[in-house]
Amino acid sequence: MKCRKCDEKAVIHMRQHKLALCKNHYLDWIPKQTQRFIHDNNMFSTEDRILVAVSGGKDSLVLWDVLSRLGYQVDGLYIGLGIDGGNGYSAESRRITESFAAEHKLDLITYDIEEHEGLDIPTAASLTRRGRERPCSICGLSKRHIMNRVAIENDYDVLVTGHNLDDEAAVLLGNTLNWLTAYLQRQGPVLPTRSGLVKKAKPFFRFYERETAAYALLRGIEYMYDECPHADGAKSIYYKVLLNRLEADRRGAKLSFYLSFLRAKETMSFNSEGDDVERMLHPCTSCGQPTSTPDLCTYCRTWKEVRDRRETMLEQGIES
Ligand code: SF4
Ligand SMILES: [Zn+2]
Ligand SMILES: [Zn+2]
Repeated sequence: MKCRKCDEKAVIHMRQHKLALCKNHYLDWIPKQTQRFIHDNNMFSTEDRILVAVSGGKDSLVLWDVLSRLGYQVDGLYIGLGIDGGNGYSAESRRITESFAAEHKLDLITYDIEEHEGLDIPTAASLTRRGRERPCSICGLSKRHIMNRVAIENDYDVLVTGHNLDDEAAVLLGNTLNWLTAYLQRQGPVLPTRSGLVKKAKPFFRFYERETAAYALLRGIEYMYDECPHADGAKSIYYKVLLNRLEADRRGAKLSFYLSFLRAKETMSFNSEGDDVERMLHPCTSCGQPTSTPDLCTYCRTWKEVRDRRETMLEQGIES
């Protein structure tokens, strides 16, 4: 098959767009499309200071690459989770992220959880009731907290993440199956700034996962191929499998599911639970980040419980 724009051989065929492109035209198409999504959704401008959350995976590295090619002022934030010991998942993803930043002469902020909290994520999770089987709860809440805190404390205008269409459609399916109206209300490619929370944007929300993977491959971007070992069995992966089946039967189904939701959201009204939470936001008495829970925010409360439990165990001579 030939490229739609020249005589070269096409390297990718995007059936949902009825578009086949050669390597050079594909590597131009992705930034052009990204720029269109940024503009149409009022995400940010070249005047803004942008912080991109980078995990070492393809989506976040590709996003960093594309935004810097488009001329945005964009720094990276890598959060060290301490997963799988010295040579495992976190160590490798950190190596990949640091080498990408060095190669492209980009600024990277590294925030190591163990350095700040005294424990890595798996150890902390093993000390909580919910985290014994899977550390995702404390991991997710810690990442969200740190991303916002670093962005606010360093005066960034917007925090961007590499969530792609597959991620967003899977979250949407989960929210819809459970009719989580407050989450549906807040789901979208842009979350405006409010009460101490930085503006958030997802410039890749319309790209299929295979499209960002193809870009990484064609640009020669080294990325962390393996998933986090704790992702196994996650509900979001199950939803992705279901959506892939749907897409195989009906091309463009994922895109249409998500875009129809965004269109419907403009006219639909969900309950106002989300707004009530927002009205109740106040600064956490320990870290100053906005929270709707009394006194301490969930991050400070959870990590305090972890440290207290650790102390009690050490006093009793039990190793975690
Ligand atoms: S899958 Fe891994 S990185 Fe993702 S939330 Fe769970 S522990 Fe954290
Ligand atoms: Zn071409
Ligand atoms: Zn706090």
